[in-house]
Formats: sequence, C-alpha cells, structure tokens
Amino acid sequence: MKDVKTKASFSIVYILITLIILMLLQTWIAPKVENVSYSKFKQLIAEGKINSVVVSSRFLKGFDRIQDDHTEPLFPSLMYRTPRVDDQNLVPYLEQHNITIIGENENTFFATLLSWILPALIFVGIWYWAMKRMGQGAGGIMTLGKSKARIVAQTDVGVTFEDVAGQDEAKEELKEVLEFLRNPERFTRLGAKIPKGVLLVGPPGTGKTLLAKAVAGEAGVPFFSIGGSDFIEMFVGLGAARVRDLFEQANKMAPCLVFIDELDALGKARGAGTLGGHDEREQTLNQLLAEMDGFQSTKGVVILAATNRPEILDPALLRPGRFDRHILVDRPDLAGRIAILKVHTKSVILAPDVDLELIARRTPGFTGAELANLVNEAALLAARKDKQQVGNEEFDEALDRIVAGLEKKNRVLNEKEKRTVAYHESGHALVAAFRSTAEPVHKISIVPRGIGALGFTQQLPTEDRYLMSKTELLEKIDVLLGGRAAEEIVFGDITTGAQNDLQRATDIARSMVTLYGMTEKLGHVTYQPPPSPFLNSTPHPAAPREISDETARRIDEEVREIVEDRMKGASETLRQHEDLLHLVAEKLLEKETLEREEFLEIIGRALDSAESPEVTVPPPSELS
Ligand code: ADP
Ligand code: MG
Ligand code: ZN
Repeated sequence: MKDVKTKASFSIVYILITLIILMLLQTWIAPKVENVSYSKFKQLIAEGKINSVVVSSRFLKGFDRIQDDHTEPLFPSLMYRTPRVDDQNLVPYLEQHNITIIGENENTFFATLLSWILPALIFVGIWYWAMKRMGQGAGGIMTLGKSKARIVAQTDVGVTFEDVAGQDEAKEELKEVLEFLRNPERFTRLGAKIPKGVLLVGPPGTGKTLLAKAVAGEAGVPFFSIGGSDFIEMFVGLGAARVRDLFEQANKMAPCLVFIDELDALGKARGAGTLGGHDEREQTLNQLLAEMDGFQSTKGVVILAATNRPEILDPALLRPGRFDRHILVDRPDLAGRIAILKVHTKSVILAPDVDLELIARRTPGFTGAELANLVNEAALLAARKDKQQVGNEEFDEALDRIVAGLEKKNRVLNEKEKRTVAYHESGHALVAAFRSTAEPVHKISIVPRGIGALGFTQQLPTEDRYLMSKTELLEKIDVLLGGRAAEEIVFGDITTGAQNDLQRATDIARSMVTLYGMTEKLGHVTYQPPPSPFLNSTPHPAAPREISDETARRIDEEVREIVEDRMKGASETLRQHEDLLHLVAEKLLEKETLEREEFLEIIGRALDSAESPEVTVPPPSELS
C-alpha cells in the first residue's frame, strides 16, 4: 500500500514540475504581447516602434523586428496586438510608414484539433477503458452485440451421411426431413404439414451432433447451428432476444434448417428449481416456445435439436407443433458397430489378422464415440510399439483398458485377497457355463484394473437381444451371484467384493417383479410408473408412486425371495462341481487371465453340449 502511494504522489510531483517548466519556457521564448487599441497601434506605427505587421483575419500583430523571409519574426522582443478593424486606409497608412506587411492565413488546423478533437479523443479513450474494465469484471458486457456473429448459415461442414454409420433409421428419418425442405410444395400441396421440430434423442456419444452436421452437409439449404447453452446469458432477456434474432434470420432464409445442440441446457423444465440464471432460462425458453408456435411451417423452417436427457426437458417443448418428432439415436447394434468400426478404421493401417466383427461382438453397448476411441487407442498403442500395422493385440489391449480402466500395475493384492478374487471370478464363470441361456465366458481375469474392479469375467454375447425371457433373467441373476457363492463355499466367509454383483442382481429381480410382471405372487402387473418414452431414461422423479405401503412391502419381500432362491441354486451348482471350481481358480491364480479356450479346456468337453454358443444375452456382460 505504502509503495503505491509514494509512487502516485511521485508522479503527481513530476507532472507539476513539468508544467511549471513548460510555463516558464513559454514566457521566456514567447514574445511579450501587449494588447493595444487600434488607435494606439496606429500611433505606435507613427512613432516607429513597429517595423513589420502581420495581418491575419482577426488580428493585426506589430513586431519590432523583421525577418528576411518575411514571415513572422522568430524571436521578436515585443509584439503588439490589436483586433483588426475594417479600415480601408490601413494598407496605405502602413506603406506610408514603410512597414513590411506580412499576410497570414490563419492556420486553424491545430486550434481545431486542440479545442475539439483532442477532448473528444480523451473522452472516447476514457469511455473505452471503462467499458473494458466493466467487461472484464462482469463477464463480458462487451460481448453483448456479438451474438449475431455465431448465428450464420453454414455451407461447408465436410460431414456427410457416409460418415455416420449404424444409424440407418435415424438417417432415413432425417433424409425425409431434408426432402421436406428441398421440396416443400410437394408436401404442402396435399395439405400435409411439414414438421416444425425434430428432436434427436440418445445417450451421449451416439452421434447426434455428427448426424446434425451430416444433415448440414447434405442439406442444400441454409443451416444454422447453435448450442443450447449459447442462449443462456448474463442478462435477463438477452437469451430471449437471441432466440428472436435466430428465428428472424431463419424466416428470412426459409427454407432452412436450424440446429440447437444440447437442447436440455435451455429447455430444462421450468420451475425445476435451480439457483441463479433461472429467470433468464425461463424467459429464453418461453421465447423459444412462442417463436416455434409463431412461424409458419409451410415456409419450410425446420428446427432440429439434440439432447441426451429428454426426461428433463420441459414437457411444453415436446408438445405437438413443437418438437413433436423424435428420432432415437440409440447405441448401435452389432451390425452398426461393425459399420462404425469400418468408418473409423478407414484411415488406419490394419494388420490382416484384425477381425472387426469380433471386436464389434466384444463391444456390446459401446457408443460410436467409444468405438472411435477404441480404434484410436489401438492405433496409439501400435505407434508406441513402433509397429507398421495395428494388430489384434493392440485392439485387445485397448479394449481391456477401456472396458475396465487402465491396468493398475502397482496395485498389490495380498495372497489371500488374490485367492478370494480368483475363486469369486471362477464362480461367475462356472455358473455361466452351467446355465444354458447364459452368455459364453469370453475371458476371466484377476488383474486389478481401474477403480474397484479387482477382476472380471467377460461374457461374449453372440447377438444383440431385444427380448429376454424369464429364464434368461433368472439365470443372469445366477451368474451374478456365482461370485459370492464360490467365496462362501470355499472360504466359509464372504467379502465386500460382491457389492456390485448383488446390486445388479437385485435390480434385475426388482424389475422382474415391478416392471415385467414375472412373479406369481404379485401377478402380471406393473408396479412402476412407465419409463418415459425414450430408451435409457429413468422415470420422472416426480412421477407418483401408485402403490400402497403393503404392496411395497410385498415387492421387497418378493425381490428378496428371488435373490435368495437363486443364490441357493448358484451354490448348488458350484458345490456339485467344486473340483472344477478349484481347477479353474488355481489356473487363474497361476496365469491371472484365462481366455475362453483355456477355460473350456479345464472344464472339459462334458459341458460343450450344455453351452450353445449361438444363444445368448445382451450388453452389460462383465462381472466383477
Ligand atoms: P453426441 O452428440 O450424440 O453426444 P457426437 O455426435 O458428438 O455424439 O459423437 C462423437 C464422436 O463419436 C463423433 O465425432 C464420431 O467420431 C463418433 N461417432 C459417434 N457416433 C458415430 C456413428 N454413428 N458413426 C460414426 N462415428 C460416430
Ligand atoms: Mg453432441
Ligand atoms: Zn463378481
């Protein structure tokens, strides 16, 4: 503080001294000026005190010296000045007294500059500085006017439908929308209404943004793209203004397409209490709703939006006439995954042994983004090993990494823990082997990976499934419980390692009771509010529970009964084959990972018949 103060006072003193020196200089150098009356001026001439006269538009200046080049003397000792009077006799009078007359065009440039432009400049400077300060402090006051810059029609995005693999249905629907835009009359002629709002719905990474870009690439109509959060501004009303602006422009450019990415940022249900910025979002949303109602769909403006959280969207947004057309962009199926892998390996040099189909089989539930990541990881690994091609080995490693997190080489389990994990995983694998509908075991591992996973048993579904029978669900529970059952049989004690298994088993059991009506006691009745119309979304938290306390108790009981019952079954299987359990676990302890073939070899041919590799179940196929 002290430092700053002395610095400041120092500079003030400095300025004062400079000013004083300047003033002194002025008085020293500048001629002494004596303002005199016109008659006195004339008199001075008559007295011979003036040698030369400078005549300007407003003044007469008399000097006691002359310069050779007849300009104003540089250092006159004295200067008399008088206002110019309209006196026709002046010039003859001067000539008569032999006075040098110097005409002067008064140079007003600097005077003007000083009196007018300079203050203006200073003013502007201060204003600019102040605005800049404010802008920094308050998070961008100066960006106010820049909003329009982003809302421009795009032309070349470099993405086409070719680049989007495995979303054929979504692509078909979007092509239809494009058809509307390219040729609106064809549809309106028959009285059909062109859809106003199209919502792309699906989990993150499934290619929604990519699809929208592809639409832009294929559109042949102007395409406006904006993120939902771009509308959320610091000032109330600004987002709404931006929405208005967007629609104004879109209307001018019709037919055209507007894309709002991450719609949930702006379209969250109103009143869903968030702190701050809440008013602003509400206003913006209201404006969007109003605009969507306002414009004529016949003009050919289609609003495309994307979200991965449809359940939190304000219901008003989904009403007919707004975003009433929903396109599901779901996780790709097997064929889709193969296609996506093909797209992303196009520019990768693959070894001949790489089988994309096998990789696709091993990655159920992966999204496009995850598959793209897998390919990239594999390529990176190959590059790190200075390989010429990306081989199967790299894909395997990349997959292991992504599936279960990076190998934690430094994580040490003590011998006892290791044994427990080995028996636990062997338990899963064996139960899976003895259940006809269970997915075949693909890999068993006790190499610790990532957080919390001490080992895993990977099962390989051979096809994507959309329907599951009661038997399949129950046997899935068996497999999940196999880990704990093995621990109990072998060690007579149980561990915390089964937590995730139990949770998943319980979830399945609960779904069977409350969602699928699969138990006798509670009947073919659904006890849960229906899930919202989109896949992978949870029921709205505010949805009413329509069950009595008594029913709730019976549900809990039933769930418990299922799990306990299946636990008994799993234990039973393992007890029957305890010798196999020991064999598998010991081998696992020795090798840390067992591939499918090794596992099958241990448990022998006898089980090959029990296992029909072509019939199996869907995604989450990994047990820890
Ligand atoms: P979303 O918007 O649904 O979250 P993105 O469109 O941003 O997902 O996808 C992220 C990336 O994942 C894309 O840039 C692309 O590389 C890859 N990707 C996702 N889905 C696909 C797909 N169906 N085909 C090809 N690549 C895909
Ligand atoms: Mg996106
Ligand atoms: Zn487990």
